[in-house]
Amino acid sequence: MRMLNHPDRLLPADPNVRAVARRLLAEVEHLPIVSPHGHTDPRWYAENAAFPDPARLFVVPDHYVFRMLYSQGVPLEALGVPRRDGGATEQDGRAIWRLFAAHYHLFRGTPTRLWLDHAFATLFGLEERLGPDNADRHYDIIAEHLARDDYRPRALFERFNIEVIATTESPLDELKWHAMIRESGWGGRVVTAYRPDPVVDPAFEGFRDNLAKLGDMTGEDTFSYQGYLEAHRKRRAFFKSFGATSSDHGHPTAATFDLDPVEAEALFRRVTGNAPVSAEDAELFRGQMLTEMAAMSLDDGLVLQIHPGALRNHNGAVFARHGRDMGADVPTATDYVHALRPLLERFGNETDLTVVLFTLDETAYARELAPLAGHYPALRLGPAWWFHDSPEGMKRFREMTTETAGFYNTVGFNDDTRAFPSIPARHNVARRIDCGFLANLVCEHRLDEDEAAEVARDLAYGLAKRAYKL
Ligand SMILES: [Zn+2]
Repeated sequence: MRMLNHPDRLLPADPNVRAVARRLLAEVEHLPIVSPHGHTDPRWYAENAAFPDPARLFVVPDHYVFRMLYSQGVPLEALGVPRRDGGATEQDGRAIWRLFAAHYHLFRGTPTRLWLDHAFATLFGLEERLGPDNADRHYDIIAEHLARDDYRPRALFERFNIEVIATTESPLDELKWHAMIRESGWGGRVVTAYRPDPVVDPAFEGFRDNLAKLGDMTGEDTFSYQGYLEAHRKRRAFFKSFGATSSDHGHPTAATFDLDPVEAEALFRRVTGNAPVSAEDAELFRGQMLTEMAAMSLDDGLVLQIHPGALRNHNGAVFARHGRDMGADVPTATDYVHALRPLLERFGNETDLTVVLFTLDETAYARELAPLAGHYPALRLGPAWWFHDSPEGMKRFREMTTETAGFYNTVGFNDDTRAFPSIPARHNVARRIDCGFLANLVCEHRLDEDEAAEVARDLAYGLAKRAYKL
């Protein structure tokens, strides 16, 4: 039987290349984790309460997991995913787990399978592949561990060797969990990141109410453009006081605009008025705000991350029943070359600004992203993201970007996850794939092994720390 966590997993199959990859991996496998972008819940670290049960740790919160079961006809309610109307959903963790185990074969060949097996083996000592026959045994073993003090969030954070982790919060968040973490005196470093979509995107649910709340929180008149921008400056400063070093923008496209002040004011009045906002104005405003945020970044130093190209809530019925982030976000073709030009015309040559670009459109890697990042000092490429946070996705990223952008216009790895136990697995996968890629360069005599070792350390650790100023 296959080991759940084979020591050579994901390394090149060719023995000569694998030997080099093993040596490189030995240098980086146990480096601390720097996680500059992710979505874990700061409440876990603040309260340090035990995770309730295996299903509520591995299944219910993880859209990578439940979207796959949903695609095969399993209702989200049966997996315990909450309904917006408070309607009935499965509450019994064991029943959810059995359903999950009965469908575990669906994850064959997927990165989710690698992450889950890694966690099962390293955290709970499980050696058998999960399936319907051992579902209860696995459940019991995991549940027993989760009840122990050394499996609470802070202990796991330390066990995972996390040097620093960023969470993501809206400007409307009071950051009370971050305050609680700070007051607790615990040494784990948890920082926030500024994600202003709810107050930057006129198409976001409750946009006008959100602006009103932003006004209440900052004492600014957020229905005047200057007051609105000042409110952002204040919230960014507040987020920085809780360790934020970045902002994050999840727009449908990478569009940026640089309107003159009169046009920008008029646009602001249109998107905040009582009349319905046109799709064109919404796009224009989001794009204008990316440029405004870049201007603020030059003042306050926050790294600006652009995460475009997801068509959110593609499935209207699932959105109506369950809300956002339910595995129904789907990639779209994304233009960068034309879209980013207004922002780059103004700020692209700034060496004190860092704009990190992500993509869900792999066709943009070699055609657009690597040529842009290989030229503009302000640009860096984020790692293979979301649907491409996978062994093949990471290989394609390196293959398609390295020859034009090099390694040093990339920013190392982001786990970008809300699935806490998958964090070490995801970083481990990235380290293995990068070591395999570098080992190939060494074996083709394109890079010396000592250089490859240095690059491997930078990709695993140094670049993320430097790019995100952590
Ligand atoms: Zn993210």
